[in-house]
Amino acid sequence: MASRYDFRSDTVTAPDAGMRAAMAEAPVGDDVYGEDPSVAALEARVADLTGKELGLFIPSGTQSNLVALMTHCARGDEFIAGQEAHSYKYEAGGAAVLGSIQPQPIENAPDGSLPLDKIAAAIKLDDMHFARTRLLALENTIGGRVLPQAYVDEAVALARANGLATHLDGARIFNAAVASNRAAHELTAPFDTVSVCLSKGLGAPVGSVLVGSEAFIARARRLRKMVGGGMRQAGILAAAGLYALEHNVARLAEDHGRARQLAEGLARHAALKVEMPQTNIVFLRADPAIAEGFAAHVKAAGILVSGRYGQQRWVTHKDLSDAAVDAALAAAEDFFARA
Ligand SMILES: *Cc1c(COP(=O)(O)O)cnc(C)c1O
Repeated sequence: MASRYDFRSDTVTAPDAGMRAAMAEAPVGDDVYGEDPSVAALEARVADLTGKELGLFIPSGTQSNLVALMTHCARGDEFIAGQEAHSYKYEAGGAAVLGSIQPQPIENAPDGSLPLDKIAAAIKLDDMHFARTRLLALENTIGGRVLPQAYVDEAVALARANGLATHLDGARIFNAAVASNRAAHELTAPFDTVSVCLSKGLGAPVGSVLVGSEAFIARARRLRKMVGGGMRQAGILAAAGLYALEHNVARLAEDHGRARQLAEGLARHAALKVEMPQTNIVFLRADPAIAEGFAAHVKAAGILVSGRYGQQRWVTHKDLSDAAVDAALAAAEDFFARA
C-alpha cells in the first residue's frame, strides 16, 4: 500500500496552496547583492521574533549551524555540545572537517541538558596542551524535550563567566515556545546566536535563519558565501518562511496534542515503553524483534515511522490529522491483538 501517514519526521510536509501562492507572488532580487526584499523581510522577522539584531537566511539548518560554529570558532578552537546534539552527531562532522573546530561532546542528562559540572570540567585552561574552548552550543527542543529555562540561564551564565560565547540550535524553538507558553525571544534571550529551522514543523520547503549581533552576522555572511550558501532570487523561498511564521506557529499546539494522544494510545500496549512527549516527537523502545514486527505491520497499513535497534521515533506535523493518529492506534491494536 502507498503510505498515507508519514510519521518519520516533521520535515516531510509539503507546501500548501497558501504557501505556494505566497512564493509565486514574492518580490525578489539578487540576494548576494543584498537586493532581495523578501529575504530581507524574513531575516528581519526572525531577528525580531528572537530578539536579535540581524538575521541571515541559510539553505539548511546544518549549514546554519556550521556557519555559526565557524563564525564563533577559529581553526584549533573547540565547542562544547551534547553527545545527542545535532551540531555534533548529525552534521557529518562538518565543524571538524570544514572548520577545523574540535567538538567537545558531553553526555546529555535525561532532560536533554548538559550538567553544569560537566560543562565546567570540560572548559580547558589557557595552556598550550589544549584546544581553546570558545563556545557552548545548546539545543532546544532537543529530542523533542524543552530545556528548562532556569537551566538555560545558569548554563549561559557559566559559559559567560568563562569567556565562552553561546549558540542555540533552535531548529524547533517555536515548538519549545508553544509548549512552554512563552515567546520565542524569552527562550533565546540568553544566547549570542540562534539558528531557527523553517522546514521542520513550520512547514516551509527550505531554509533556516541564523540570528545574532550586527557584527556577528556580517562575519557569518562571508562564511555563508564561502560554504556555498549565497543564493540569488531566494525570495521565493523566504516567502514560504514568512508565510510559515505567520500561519504555522500557533498550530504547533495541535501537533503536540496529537503526539500526546498517540503516546497515550501506544502506551496501552505493555510491550512498548513509550516516553510521554513534551512537544511533537514520541520515542518508544521495545524488544528489537517486536519493534521490527510492529514497524513492518504499520508500514503495511500505510504508516511510516523511523528508528532501529528497538527504538522508534514518531513525529507529528501539520500534514498529519487526527485520522493519522487514529490509523496508527488502530494498527497498533491490530498488531498486539495478534501477537
Ligand atoms: C533538522 C535539524 C537541524 C538541521 O536542519 P537541516 O535543514 O535538516 O540541515 C539542525 N538542528 C536540529 C536540532 C534539527 O532537528
